[in-house]
Amino acid sequence: MNQSKTDISTNINWEEIRAQFPVLNQEVNGKRLVYLDNGASSQMPQVVVDRINKYHSHEHANVHRGIHSLSQHATDAYEATREKVRRLINARYQEEIIYTTGTTDSINLVANSYGRKFFKEGDEIIVSEMEHHANIVPWQLVGEQTGAKLRVIPMNENGELEMERFYELLSEKTKFVSVIHVSNALGTINPVKEIIDAAHERNIPVLVDGAQAVPHSKVDVQELDTDFYAFSAHKMCGPTGFGILYGKKELLDSIPPYRGGGDMIDKVTFQKTTWNDLPHKFEAGTPPIAAGIGLGTGIDFLNSIGMENIAAREAELVAYATKKLSKIEGLRIVGTSHEKASVISFLLDGIHPTDAGTILDKEGIAVRTGHHCAQPVMDHFNIPGTLRASISFYNNEDDIDRLVDGIEYTKEFFA
Ligand code: PLP
Repeated sequence: MNQSKTDISTNINWEEIRAQFPVLNQEVNGKRLVYLDNGASSQMPQVVVDRINKYHSHEHANVHRGIHSLSQHATDAYEATREKVRRLINARYQEEIIYTTGTTDSINLVANSYGRKFFKEGDEIIVSEMEHHANIVPWQLVGEQTGAKLRVIPMNENGELEMERFYELLSEKTKFVSVIHVSNALGTINPVKEIIDAAHERNIPVLVDGAQAVPHSKVDVQELDTDFYAFSAHKMCGPTGFGILYGKKELLDSIPPYRGGGDMIDKVTFQKTTWNDLPHKFEAGTPPIAAGIGLGTGIDFLNSIGMENIAAREAELVAYATKKLSKIEGLRIVGTSHEKASVISFLLDGIHPTDAGTILDKEGIAVRTGHHCAQPVMDHFNIPGTLRASISFYNNEDDIDRLVDGIEYTKEFFA
């Protein structure tokens, strides 16, 4: 295997890119770290760490409030991220980019603001069997308050949505559809465009949970024609505590604020309060300023490589890993959809995922074990959980080889 691999077609040196991630350059339990838990949180390149440090060291002030230069500078840097996000996902207007604390917060915003205004007893919200809990529980909570009920698109044994069942579920009662773009537990890429088009034929709005899609591929919200789209900074080379809700302007205008406080108001009196314009209507209180600025630098970094190149490199690594893992006796891959992104979930015969994950950790290999916040997926396959290797463009073939060796060692350990 060539350690200084340069992709001839793109002239990208992936090892040089990898070298920009300081976290990867360390030993864990005496072994070189192999980080394959990118689905939970990706790592930050040095430029993002430096940008956040610079803000804290030289630029810190509250945003949107101060007349003084430092506050204006912080506001400009923080607001610049909005345009970078708009371009990244090709939204029409900057006002359609709402800053949140992450995918979970984005979905809760829509469930509360849209759901409490429009849902009533007997209404139905369609989600899928492979949702992350973040796209199940907020709808259940708003359902308890409004009387709306969840309906679920089932999946088959490959971990693909049964689309004919989706069409059967669509009815007069359906008031909202909320689906995951790429499954964090199985890696399945769902046909969200088809889902959106079918829902729109009945004037039903759609939210797409893009937490595992935006970091790995080019997403175009206008092409998808999605009404809402949610994702998190910390899965795309940015920091924790920050995320995005995209929403079509007319829909965001039609729903009330989710949280009240500073920044989101126009005029406050004890009799009546009016709201700020979009996007600030949904952004109450002092935000995580450094994290917002850090995401901007993370997006610059991803763009410097190119989302198409990232997707192609990850597809190459996933194919390499799938081939190698498939050859291991007693290893079963869970989630074998034809359309898959950078997640490989698997089980080892007779070894509990947690036990296997513990041995791999001793070998310096970080994988995720458990239900991956998708308990219905585990119930579907009647398993307690899986081991999950989630791959990023800064991984390499050597990481996969180390995982394979680690699994062989784990099998011997428990034999
Ligand atoms: N949706 C999906 C598909 C995810 O993978 C995750 C995180 O793993 C979430 C939602 C929740 O993201 P966050 O914890 O950043 O809000």
